[in-house]
Amino acid sequence: MNLDISSLSTGSSTSGSEEERVKVLILGSGPAGLSAALYAARADLNPVVLSGIELGGQVSLTYTVENYPGFPEGVGGMELVDLFKKQAEKFGARVEYDSAGEVDFTRRPFRVKSVNGKQYLADTVIITTGARSVHLDVPGENELTGRGVSYCATCDGWFFKEKDVIVVGGGDSALEEGLFLTRYADSVTVVHRRDQLRAGPILVERAQANPKIKFELNSVISEIIGNGAVQSVQLKDTQTGKVRHKPVDGVFIFIGHTPNTELFKGQLDMDEHGYLKVDQLMQTNIPGVFAAGEVADPNFRQVITSAGMGAAAAMRANHFLDEHGSA
Ligand code: NAP
Repeated sequence: MNLDISSLSTGSSTSGSEEERVKVLILGSGPAGLSAALYAARADLNPVVLSGIELGGQVSLTYTVENYPGFPEGVGGMELVDLFKKQAEKFGARVEYDSAGEVDFTRRPFRVKSVNGKQYLADTVIITTGARSVHLDVPGENELTGRGVSYCATCDGWFFKEKDVIVVGGGDSALEEGLFLTRYADSVTVVHRRDQLRAGPILVERAQANPKIKFELNSVISEIIGNGAVQSVQLKDTQTGKVRHKPVDGVFIFIGHTPNTELFKGQLDMDEHGYLKVDQLMQTNIPGVFAAGEVADPNFRQVITSAGMGAAAAMRANHFLDEHGSA
């Protein structure tokens, strides 16, 4: 669905042609991207947002968001994205249902070719392409996501009050999120594929001391089973190959995150995990290219922190344009 842009001021753009000139091009439409769009729009920069594959990014997969201020009763993930989008559009942002396919940041204006074949010439770019949770890739996982399968304890833990849940993974995230889940769940079983946890000693000690946490080591989930909601998992012993069923209400998967930065390799500086490096002003190593949200944040991964980073990036893009003008 493309929006009717006839009533919007689009500055120097030539929408509808194969090439469009924009002052601010935002790659990604999660909380960071749509907040950047709101701030850039209110600065009269007529930003264009390339939505990426999923409008709203990861939060759109969250059933209810209860930790974003202003919504004491909680708000649906998709509903929140829709509100973000409407607010940005109200001030002149335009969301295109398209993704960046190629980027050239070697000179200004920056060139971004979309997967639909349109070329954008951008004075500034804000990258908010987010990160994706690594999936187990087992039967039942996709079908039951949002119905007992989750990748976010902070988002969904509350729904598992007095329930039995599994946490998959042996790293810091798994144990930290598992400890968080003990606030709600009756039991949290950590399923890890080896007999040694990867997490640091403090978290390991804390988890081992928590009476609600149990461990299933040398185990993997080979199937998640449920009719409309998770009911059980099939556990496989990685040493003997033996398989058994375990009744459970929820499966939280923390086996790592992958930032969506493949497109920028060789052009933008990244850390060893592929997260974009930005300075305190959200700027990447290329002046005029900014990054915000999870693509540049391996630590917080919250709607509110991503939205804040997006707003900050747009303010800096505006400042950059004031100083350097159009290319
Ligand atoms: P991680 O350290 O990469 O751990 C991922 C875990 O998932 C590992 O135990 C790994 O098993 C397991 N795993 C990976 N693929 C799997 C698969 N297909 N099936 C089953 N298990 C699988 O990721 P993370 O825990 O998200 O941490 C990422 C980084 O953030 C780390 O540097 C971590 O220290 C840091 N972090 C720190 C804190 C903190 O300090 N409080 C909190 C969160 C994250 P193996 O061990 O066998 O490889």
